Amino acid sequence: MSAEPRIKGWCPGAWQPMATGDGWLVRVRPRLGQLTRGQVLALCDAAENYGSGLIELTSRANLQLRGVTEASWPALMDTLIAHELVDADPEAERRPQILLALGWQAGDDTHKIASALNDRWHELPVVPAKVGIAIDAGKAPVLGDASADFRIERADSRGLLVRADGHASGIAVPSIDAAVAQLIRLTHWFVESGGWDSKRMRRHHVPLPDWAPANAEPAATGSQLPLGKYAHGAVYGLPFGRVPAKVLRDAVTPAEVTALQVTPWRRIWVAGASAAAIDGLISDEQDARLRIDACPGAPYCEQASVATQPLAEHLRGVTQGAVHVSGCAKGCARRSPADVCLVGEAGRFNLIVNGRADSTPVKTGLTETEVVAYLESLGAPHL
Ligand code: SF4
Repeated sequence: MSAEPRIKGWCPGAWQPMATGDGWLVRVRPRLGQLTRGQVLALCDAAENYGSGLIELTSRANLQLRGVTEASWPALMDTLIAHELVDADPEAERRPQILLALGWQAGDDTHKIASALNDRWHELPVVPAKVGIAIDAGKAPVLGDASADFRIERADSRGLLVRADGHASGIAVPSIDAAVAQLIRLTHWFVESGGWDSKRMRRHHVPLPDWAPANAEPAATGSQLPLGKYAHGAVYGLPFGRVPAKVLRDAVTPAEVTALQVTPWRRIWVAGASAAAIDGLISDEQDARLRIDACPGAPYCEQASVATQPLAEHLRGVTQGAVHVSGCAKGCARRSPADVCLVGEAGRFNLIVNGRADSTPVKTGLTETEVVAYLESLGAPHL
């Protein structure tokens, strides 16, 4: 196997790893958003054997292995393919990613739709890198804030609809098979009507075709599953979206655990988990780290001049509002404004209040210690 690492402006995958500050980054897209217990164990072993052992969960519900090298990548790919964590056909990575609502159970509508779409996977077109599909057919849609270009959702009428991103209403469909057929047809229409130029459906300002009347209302948005224990498993948070492989291995080691589902919210569902607390994972909804977004920062990202994770940890007890610690003004970890945003520049931090990483700072050139002291001097709990 051979691969050229992609450096910037590219959506990496397993077949197209990306060069970063700590080596190649290899991204795994779990099929149906779920890994079996055996797959999780294999992934953890692979992360340690062929990478740095660090595993990240992205805002698109992908899992990333860090610290892979040109020398270790071929054996890593053999392992990932053998455990069906990566498709042996590189073309599969160019088809849309599928996101499923957290906590789906075998036999429910979300699972049936995903399975039906999986059977027709080869009928989906090759699409621009970030185009994705959300299957959100529980009692109420919960993936509304997740990045997806085409959605199969619960309709207000309790039936199903197919909705293109950027449209408030969707196309009513009478059955699961019809939903899958309509979705495949819509993805082809997107490509054929210029989707490669607009890149994402919400930027695709072309009227929907006559055969796709968007006049069905989605059901009212539901709430996400809070962290904690449920009848069939438990929901955990990943601190700042990353954990050592050992932590995930510990989470699935109990024999009663059957699978792990990933989400775009730095949370995982561990099916069959019987204990509420797992060392290294967040199990309390009040944990301050859930309010803090931090990108990898230095030394993991070549764009960063500051380490972000230590400051993020440090700020746990300093602020009560939403915090964003960003290695640079690109702001990968959070697009929306945060109460406090700290942005690296030339080895120091700029401090922004109520803004994004590219907003105007109120203070510049702060060390980590000065950031904390400044926030404490403001009596920052309200921030
Ligand atoms: S925001 Fe963070 S991860 Fe994104 S480019 Fe900047 S330093 Fe890298």
